[in-house]
Amino acid sequence: MEPMFSPALHRQRHQFVIDFVKQNKPKKVVDLGCNECTLLKTLRFHREIELLVGVDVNGVIVKKKMHGLAPLSTNYLQPSYDQLCIELYQGSVTQKDARLRGFDLVTSIELIEHLTLTDVELFSEVVFGYMTPKMVIISTPNSEFNVFLPGVSRYRHSDHKFEWTRAEFRSWAMKVCLEYGYEVEFTGVGKAPHGQQEAVGFCSQIGVFHRLMGRDCCNMLLGSDAEDVFSYTLLYSVNYPSLHNNNILRRVLVSEVLYWAEELKKRWMEERTGETCGELVFCQTEGGACAEDMKGLVDWSDASGSGQKQGSCTSRRCVAVPLDVLWSCCPKVSVLSGSLCNLRYLLMDEPNVKLSQDGSAVLLNDYEEDKEEEDDDCNLEDSGYAKASQHSHSAEQEEDWEAND
Ligand code: SAM
Repeated sequence: MEPMFSPALHRQRHQFVIDFVKQNKPKKVVDLGCNECTLLKTLRFHREIELLVGVDVNGVIVKKKMHGLAPLSTNYLQPSYDQLCIELYQGSVTQKDARLRGFDLVTSIELIEHLTLTDVELFSEVVFGYMTPKMVIISTPNSEFNVFLPGVSRYRHSDHKFEWTRAEFRSWAMKVCLEYGYEVEFTGVGKAPHGQQEAVGFCSQIGVFHRLMGRDCCNMLLGSDAEDVFSYTLLYSVNYPSLHNNNILRRVLVSEVLYWAEELKKRWMEERTGETCGELVFCQTEGGACAEDMKGLVDWSDASGSGQKQGSCTSRRCVAVPLDVLWSCCPKVSVLSGSLCNLRYLLMDEPNVKLSQDGSAVLLNDYEEDKEEEDDDCNLEDSGYAKASQHSHSAEQEEDWEAND
């Protein structure tokens, strides 16, 4: 049988939320009745969101897929400045929990029809009266549409406690707005057959609520009802790697510095025209990217490993890559460090970076036959300081729970 909606109805509902998020850029979002976290998995890719929370009364169903919310390998290898924390709770929307206050957006997609009408009243009080988010999206079946759904006699799902007509949904929503200081717009997804849209409306009806500023709502935010109750159980919490974390910033910077220092050394060695044993030899490169800067690269002997210039041919030799060359050649190094002075400071105590004694250059081993040094390089790669590479990952398989709804 041909599917009735394309894309599937549950995808259209999620797409509605995604488009709303793109437009309104909320920082803190909570999805009530998050089920297997399908919507959360998509929302985590929206850069503006810094805190993403899922709540469901059924902890077993949340746990089934929650690990799919873990950061991807690319998030570790190429962290950005974006910050994202994801938390999942087991709890009922009929109960208050202080951790859910102060959000920008609350979504409740096909949830309220699973509550008794008494619990819907509690839900209204918890969401609009206690959590007091700036925006709320609520979707629920439109019972007027059921005539078009094959096999549906009373309700679309055996667990539904009610299904509202558009007028019933409106009446509940307007009452909530009056009571808690919100305004609402009505829309929906899942269009009716040609020519019947006006008569029956959308398959899933949606109310988009915005909190009114001023009025009593300030009292509601700060009033006596703001007690610190913690009735939910935390099931999962993860912080995505971010360059705002100093350790991560340092790790990425070191990786970039080592990569670019090696790259500059390689270019210089390919291009240099002469070599003088035991003396300083400045790069003679002409033309090409960073050629001017590469004049700063210097080949020196470093018997002590301390970066002191020596005059002996037998001692270990290094290529010194001045920090100012790195800074001007590699945009990422300059962005990450902010200033040359900061770059020096950040590299100073790094065990994987050898600096010259005056701290002005990174020292790299010169000769390829120095097998021991090659091994060291390998070790560096093993320890995660290799240049981050793009790791492809297969697209997540989304659950099609609509089939059972
Ligand atoms: N929102 C999900 C989506 O868009 O894919 C699926 C919603 S599913 C039809 C309804 C969900 O609401 C279920 O996961 C159920 O466990 C949850 N639920 C039912 N009663 C609840 C309550 N009192 N508090 C929190 N979640 C509840």
